[in-house]
Amino acid sequence: MSDYSFYLRCLLVTMLTTLRSFKRKARNRKNSFRRFLTKLEKDPPKNLDVLTTDTEKEVWAEINCLACANCCKTMTPTYTPKDLKRISSHFQMTVEQFKDKWLYKERSSGDWMNRNTPCQFLNTKTNLCTIYEIRPADCAGFPHLPKKKMVDYMHVHKQNLEYCPATYRLVERMMEKLKPQI
Ligand code: SF4
Ligand code: SF4
Repeated sequence: MSDYSFYLRCLLVTMLTTLRSFKRKARNRKNSFRRFLTKLEKDPPKNLDVLTTDTEKEVWAEINCLACANCCKTMTPTYTPKDLKRISSHFQMTVEQFKDKWLYKERSSGDWMNRNTPCQFLNTKTNLCTIYEIRPADCAGFPHLPKKKMVDYMHVHKQNLEYCPATYRLVERMMEKLKPQI
């Protein structure tokens, strides 16, 4: 085995172990985290958005998406018409061909989504997105930490904290910081 293959193997083992321990923690704590977010939603402290922005910076100093890629492995983005046009033309396909090959239309929302997980564009050895420069807008914005006011994103965080270590860590740190206030 070459040094590089050995390095990739070690990296993969580390990533899997970290992800497994995250999933265990998230399973155990998701309900208390969701209760905390509901409390914040009903009665947000005045400094909530400033606190969220500061906490987000701390979270990204700790979390490396390339050691995770759990969103690409377990969730699907929704494709806007612009995404569909851009990505299908990159593959020299029509939008219809692109949909036929990889996507399905969700009945309730009418959104176009990936048929399979992990995402067909994820390189599962390196965790790199193979269409990074032209990826769907939904992927570029994920996990939507301080995009709008924190209260407008509570429902998204409640959903994502089981899948995204960055969201989980954000909520965990917010709990530590706000415990005396709420
Ligand atoms: S398009 Fe890229 S970023 Fe989006 S889910 Fe697929 S691999 Fe991940
Ligand atoms: S956005 Fe979240 S789930 Fe996706 S790779 Fe980064 S930490 Fe992992």
